Amino acid sequence: MAAKAHSTATLRLSVGSLRIAHPITVPSGPVPATEILPALQGLVNAVVAAAEQGQAISCRKGCGACCRQLVPVSRTEGERLLELVRALPPRRREALAGRFAAAEAAIETAGLGERRGRSDRDLSTAYFALGVPCPFLEEESCSIHPDRPLICREYLVTSPPERCASPTQEGVAPLAVPKVSMAARGLQDEADDWFPLAMLMAWARSRPRKAARRTGPEWVQRFLGRLGIK
Ligand code: SF4
Repeated sequence: MAAKAHSTATLRLSVGSLRIAHPITVPSGPVPATEILPALQGLVNAVVAAAEQGQAISCRKGCGACCRQLVPVSRTEGERLLELVRALPPRRREALAGRFAAAEAAIETAGLGERRGRSDRDLSTAYFALGVPCPFLEEESCSIHPDRPLICREYLVTSPPERCASPTQEGVAPLAVPKVSMAARGLQDEADDWFPLAMLMAWARSRPRKAARRTGPEWVQRFLGRLGIK
């Protein structure tokens, strides 16, 4: 089978106060949106690296306090995560399914499975108070670190790590990172839709199955368009 052709370009972006020049490579032909996620992960990594310059980040492997927060995930990232889960060895998949079922039960029991007119802020506060660990968290470390969602990459703190476990989040100083991840929402469908990462399997049961195919450069254009960059 012939190798897929790829297109490469250097993106020069102004995001917030940051100036980024980042090379990006995507499939040249029509593909589902999930296939450009590696390129978007690289872009978010570059934005975060620029924001980190001169800052002392206190996040360390083994500290998963922030992995009990509500992590909003877009359809495209949800589809990629499902592919990732399907490729895991059966025993890991089984253990993960158990953690997802436990998280879903806790969230549903607390009445947080639906937004029900709550603001995103109220929902996030109630969710964090529940203390449900992300099902991908193993021994307080992310078990899918290279593939973690875009928004997880953007959350870093400069304050002492122990403050992150406090329900009030008092004294937590997140690094100021432009939230490029937001542009992944509605990348396929225009609607600014998302679901909590811990509800991935619940979302999978009713998710839309029809997926558009566009060329890699077209997907990137749409993503940048959602950031207000033409
Ligand atoms: S995906 Fe990884 S980094 Fe993100 S919340 Fe889950 S365990 Fe934490």
